[in-house]
Amino acid sequence: MLKLQGIAVSPGVTIGEALVLDSEGFRIPRRFVERSAVDTELARLAHAVAETSREVERNRDAIRTELGEQYAAIFQAHLAMLHDQRLQQELQSAVRDRNWWPEYAVSRTLRRYAKVFQNLDNHISQRAHDIYDIEKSLLRNLLGQRRETLAAVSQPVIVLAHNLTPSETANLDRRFVKGFATELGGPGSHTAIVAEGLGIPAVVGVGPFVADVSGGEPVILDGNQGLIILQPDEETIAQYRLEEESARHTAARLDRLRDLPAETTDGVRIQIMGNIEFPSEVEQCISRGCDGVGLYRTEFLYLTSRLEPTEEDHFEAYSSVVKALGGKPVVIRTLDLGADKMRTETKPEEERNPCLGLRSIRLSLRQLPMFRTQLRAVLRASALGDVRVMFPLVSTIVELRQARMVLADVMEDLAEHGIAFNPKMPVGMMVETPAAAVMLDAFIKEVDFVSVGTNDLIQYTLAVDRGNKEVAELYNACDPAVLRLLRRSLDVAAAAGVPANVCGQMSGSVMFTQLLLGMGLRQLSVPASAIPEVKQVCRSVSVADCRLIAENALAMDGAREVKSYLRDQLRRLPVQTGA
Ligand code: PEP
Ligand code: MG
Repeated sequence: MLKLQGIAVSPGVTIGEALVLDSEGFRIPRRFVERSAVDTELARLAHAVAETSREVERNRDAIRTELGEQYAAIFQAHLAMLHDQRLQQELQSAVRDRNWWPEYAVSRTLRRYAKVFQNLDNHISQRAHDIYDIEKSLLRNLLGQRRETLAAVSQPVIVLAHNLTPSETANLDRRFVKGFATELGGPGSHTAIVAEGLGIPAVVGVGPFVADVSGGEPVILDGNQGLIILQPDEETIAQYRLEEESARHTAARLDRLRDLPAETTDGVRIQIMGNIEFPSEVEQCISRGCDGVGLYRTEFLYLTSRLEPTEEDHFEAYSSVVKALGGKPVVIRTLDLGADKMRTETKPEEERNPCLGLRSIRLSLRQLPMFRTQLRAVLRASALGDVRVMFPLVSTIVELRQARMVLADVMEDLAEHGIAFNPKMPVGMMVETPAAAVMLDAFIKEVDFVSVGTNDLIQYTLAVDRGNKEVAELYNACDPAVLRLLRRSLDVAAAAGVPANVCGQMSGSVMFTQLLLGMGLRQLSVPASAIPEVKQVCRSVSVADCRLIAENALAMDGAREVKSYLRDQLRRLPVQTGA
């Protein structure tokens, strides 16, 4: 049994079969060859070896011409490894005698060799990389056009991958993917957010482990503790089965809160809104008793489609959400593309610092036809219900004014053509940059509401990449600098009488509920899966006590101290349910 620690990003535990994707996205299930097909499969293997061999020779010759014999020797060594008699015999015997699928034989055998090298404590351990290169090349040649993708999954699996982009995650088939773990990824990455939206357990930032697993092996994914357990023993499996069962009971208990208001013990009504990425998620928010949708991340319309969405695509998505909400509000955030939210097949422009680059509202203002298309659809949807629009990542007042000007222009256009929309549609902005928080007293005069995006606010305040596991420790909502900017934002909004929301992941973590209520927040926007628990905490606390907690936390000067204090305050709460 091997327990690996990663970063817990989406709660829940699950037990299942591994589906392994390596860094090039190859999927290698444990599969067997029919006896009658052994010769054909051996021929396929031989063909892949020959192709790989030709590729290596071509590389060797090119490098020899360009850099000389010394460098060409690296490729000569690859060739020697590939044609090593013992390796070739092992591969053939795996197919002929054990009836392994050639892909599976290549992956298992070469990874075993690589591990032997890796475990050597000297310069030879570097040779493991060469073996992985050969494996990749053989797999590429074996799989060719038949390369299977995640889309082809048709039975329950736990995906284990080097990395998953937000768009790959968004395209996971929820019917079959029970959870995932990745080697890369940080606590605030959109991959993590999408996992929470999908309601599947996820662990990211585990570090190298995918090479140690074969497709089909049993694994346990513990999204509560951030663990992935390989080759689990019977006792651990039994223990996790109990945990799964107890989670089902808790969910059923929390379900009973559905129709009760999120009202504190001293009678203050809190609005709990849902965060969605896809229209289909609105049902989960409603079934958990949301007060509306506080953040609709519309960029996922782009991330899940090969073509740029048309105005009708936008309109269809928005109107389905508006109709499902039956009069409750929905805050549609305009496209927040860029940084880690790029389509897989569109290679992002080379930007040295994509998080500080042409993303979000900056991109929308640069690509006006795309922005106008979206705004037309939002406005048309506003004729159908309580629609509000919100601009992401605003960092200067000029951006806000420009965005509002484009909106006014699109409104004029629609009016001219007699197309219905709400001319008083509320317009809000996200507070996600320190600049926006610091300047909020100016911005606030020009918006109808604000929503604090703590995911980015943490990233930009602490100068720490939200998607990088190496600095995950620093990415901390408890940091006093973040708390001060948050408090300032909420104070400025309250003084101006402008409604404020917090829609970052922090809002969905019950550890922060008392702190946020104590800072004056009355509206939280959280992933659907977090609604019941947040509601339960709201119903268990008084605003008076929360104020005291906020005051104490804000007086602290270190994230660690704040975290242990807030955890402690949460533990002290009496558990209340709607029963
Ligand atoms: C945020 O930054 O907190 C936020 C809600 O937006 P996103 O996570 O989509 O960047
Ligand atoms: Mg953001």
